[in-house]
Amino acid sequence: MYDYLIVGAGFAGSVLAERLARIANKKVLIIDKRNHIGGNAYDHYDEAGILVHKYGPHIFHTNSKDVYEYLSSYTEWRNYQHKVLASVDGQLLPIPINLNTINKMYGLTLSSDDVASFLESRAEKINDIRTSEDVVVNSVGRELYEKFFRSYTKKQWDLDPSQLSAAVTARIPTRTNRDDRYFTDTYQVMPLHGYTRMFEKMLDHKNIHIMLNTDYRDVLGEVNYKKMIFTGPVDEYFDYRFGKLPYRSIEFKFETLDQEQFQETGTVNYPNDYAFTRITEFKYLSGQKNTKTSVVYEFPKAEGDPYYPIPKPDNAALYQRYRELTLQMENTYFVGRLATYKYYNMDQVVAQALSTFKKILGEMEQPDQLTSVADGYGV
Ligand code: FAD
Ligand code: UDP
Repeated sequence: MYDYLIVGAGFAGSVLAERLARIANKKVLIIDKRNHIGGNAYDHYDEAGILVHKYGPHIFHTNSKDVYEYLSSYTEWRNYQHKVLASVDGQLLPIPINLNTINKMYGLTLSSDDVASFLESRAEKINDIRTSEDVVVNSVGRELYEKFFRSYTKKQWDLDPSQLSAAVTARIPTRTNRDDRYFTDTYQVMPLHGYTRMFEKMLDHKNIHIMLNTDYRDVLGEVNYKKMIFTGPVDEYFDYRFGKLPYRSIEFKFETLDQEQFQETGTVNYPNDYAFTRITEFKYLSGQKNTKTSVVYEFPKAEGDPYYPIPKPDNAALYQRYRELTLQMENTYFVGRLATYKYYNMDQVVAQALSTFKKILGEMEQPDQLTSVADGYGV
C-alpha cells in the first residue's frame, strides 16, 4: 500500500516524491511512461561523451532563493549565463534586443539614452496590450518585430503573434543597455553533473519506489494507494471530455561534429530562415572540453509529445473547464506544466510543487508524523 501514487517523474513529480518521502515520511510510488526519470529535463552523455539534453536545451535560471536552495541539496552548480544571437539579414545580432543589437544592425554608435529615444520613435504605443504582437510592436515598433519575432513565432507556434497571448513574447525583454544575456535572474546555474544526476539523488530514498516504462493507466487497479499526484496532460486524465487541449511539439535533431566549436554562442536563433527555430551547442552549457561538439536543431510541429501549452484565450478557457473538474477531485492533485496547462519554466514548476507540498502538509491529519528535518527549503 502506497500513500501516494505520483504520475510523472519530471520536476513536478520528483519534487513532490522527495518532499513526501523525506519530510512527511510517506510511502511513494512514482511512475513514468518513459524509460527514464527527469521528464523533459532529462540529460545524458552522448557517444562523444558530451552531456546533451534529450528534449531540447534546458537552462536553469531563477529569482527564487527558496527554489535555488532546495535544489542545491541535490546538486552542485556551475555558473552559466546563457547568451543568444539571432541570425537576421545575414548578421548575428544579440537577442534580447539591446543597445548592441541596434548599433550593430544599423551601423550606429548610439548611447543608452539615444537608443531609448530611437526605440520610442519607432514604437507604436498600444494602451491595451493583449497579444504577443502588441507586446513587441509597443516596445520596438514594426520593423524589429518583423525581423526578430513574427516569423520565429509563426514557426514555433504555427500562429501569428497577434493570435497568441501577450505572455509569450513578453518572456523576451527589450533593453537599452549593453546587457546581452538571455536572462537576468539572480541565480543562473547549471547542475554540475547534469539534471538526471540531480533527479537520481532526489529520488534516492527508502520510501520512494520508481517504476519506469509504465503508463499509469496500466497499473490502476493493481496498485493500492491513498492519493494521487498527476503531472501528465490534464485533458488526457479526463479522457478529453471537453475536447483536446492543444500542445505544441518539437522534433529534435542531434548532430555531433568533428570540430571543437560549431557556433559562437550557446544558442543561435533563426527567425526568418530554415524550418528549425534555433541551434544549441551543448558544450557552452556544460563547460566540457572535447575535440568534438554536439548540437541540437529544433523543428516545431503539431503532432508528437506535448511540450508547450499554447497560451491563447480560447485554450485558457478550455483549460479552465478542466481545472474545474480537478477542483472537484478530493484525493488527486494536479501539478506541473502539462497538468496545469501553464508555460512554466523549471523553477516555476519546482515552486508550484513546493507550494503543493505545503498545502498537503496543511491537510495532513497527524502533523506529528513529520520527521524532524522539516526545516528550510521554503516549505
Ligand atoms: P514534464 O517534465 O513534462 O514531466 C511530466 C512527466 O509525466 C513526463 O516524464 C511524462 O513522460 C510523464 N507522463 C505523462 N503522462 C503519463 C502517463 N499517462 N503515465 C505515466 N507517465 C506519464 N525550462 C527552463 O526553466 N529553462 C529552459 O531553458 C527550458 N527549456 C525548455 C526547452 C524545451 C524544448 C521544452 C519543451 C521545455 C523547456 N523548459 C525550460 C521547460 C521545462 O521543461 C519544464 O518547465 C519542466 O520540465 C516541467 O516539468 P513537469 O514535471 O511539469 O513536466
Ligand atoms: N521569440 C521570437 N524570436 C526570438 C526569440 C523568441 O519570436 O528570437 C518569441 C517566440 O514566440 C518564442 C517566445 O518568444 O516562442 C519565447 O521565447 P523563449 O526563448 O523563451 O522560448 P522557449 O525557450 O520557451 O522555447
